[in-house]
Amino acid sequence: MRRPKPSTAPTPVVAVPDAVASAPGKKPTSADKPARGKKPATSKVQGKKPTGGQPLASGVNTQAKDGLHPRSRHHGQYDFARLIADSPALARFVITTKYGNPSIDFANPAAVKALNQALLRTHYGISDWDIPVGYLCPPIPGRADYLHHLADLLAEGNDGKIPRGPKISVLDVGVGASAIYPLIGHREYGWHFVGTDCDADALASAQRIIKANQGLGTAITLRRQRSPQTLFAGVVQTDEHFDISVCNPPFHASAAEAAAGSTRKWHHLGKHAAARGGTPVLNFGGKDGELWCEGGEVGFITRMIGESRQTPGLCLWFTSLVSKESSVPMIVRALQAAHVRERRVIDLSHGQKRSRIVAWTFLDERQRRDWRGVRWQ
Ligand code: SAH
Repeated sequence: MRRPKPSTAPTPVVAVPDAVASAPGKKPTSADKPARGKKPATSKVQGKKPTGGQPLASGVNTQAKDGLHPRSRHHGQYDFARLIADSPALARFVITTKYGNPSIDFANPAAVKALNQALLRTHYGISDWDIPVGYLCPPIPGRADYLHHLADLLAEGNDGKIPRGPKISVLDVGVGASAIYPLIGHREYGWHFVGTDCDADALASAQRIIKANQGLGTAITLRRQRSPQTLFAGVVQTDEHFDISVCNPPFHASAAEAAAGSTRKWHHLGKHAAARGGTPVLNFGGKDGELWCEGGEVGFITRMIGESRQTPGLCLWFTSLVSKESSVPMIVRALQAAHVRERRVIDLSHGQKRSRIVAWTFLDERQRRDWRGVRWQ
């Protein structure tokens, strides 16, 4: 297998406007709330062997009491004293819950953003992070967990050892304005990322974050996808390879469905905010392209599976987040139809919120060993 040429961007992103403010986004989930850890949760891998509670070859136990990955930096309650010491701007958003614990009003976009800024600074050394008004404010613990599970998947094919450093190349389909996966993935594992998006403003925001933080310029490359229906063609070179792809697809099938979802979320968080004396805020949007696409997440992932079949050697593992459990059977059918060599459905659990990662490869075990031999040594 050929070692790929250094990544070059077919459509480099250069615009760097000022980012101003954020709104809470698609998933202001309980994963971000300090009341985590109440529900014993599982983290199991379907499709091969269940690893929930079982040590992997790496000695990693994938089940933690609060549902987060064992390597998560976000177990238990947020350490507000530590976060505020590093990010004093968070202090003015801290409230006391009826149980006497410090928290923030998750219905307040400014508070959610301040928490994210503090978490990224304290845990990942990202000192300058901001996103424009209306874009997704990603819950950090859930995003980090996805990456930890990817690290486990790669470790499985590497004698249980997580491959680290810039020779591991990750393709983030839909990097978003926050560049959240590249930021965490690079800081945790030193991986190199190529992030794609079709939203020019999102890419400009991601580029601003990369520029504003030391050491990210060589670690993260951004590329513009010009066709929303296309995932890989146009943004990757024909002889390029990635060790794994990551994706958090828009999950609604229409603007109306996305609006209904936002309203439900508003009611949910609004009630909680009111109970704590907070002020519900109406905008839980996220930009259209972040929230919906033709066919919803099933459409998006099915298109990705179809394209991956055309370029089976592009990635050692292709993966995507799947938000709705009801989407899984249709995605599994698409994977069967594509004759993937192996597939996994990895459950994620963060407090009340359940989701899962679907992963597939077209390479057999020997080809995967060769891949590692060529790229990871
Ligand atoms: N990764 C970020 C953003 C996810 S939202 C996070 O986890 O928070 C989904 C993103 O996919 C949006 O930024 C949207 O613009 C982008 N997107 C939609 N269709 C795309 C396509 N065909 N190729 C690349 N990105 C796409």
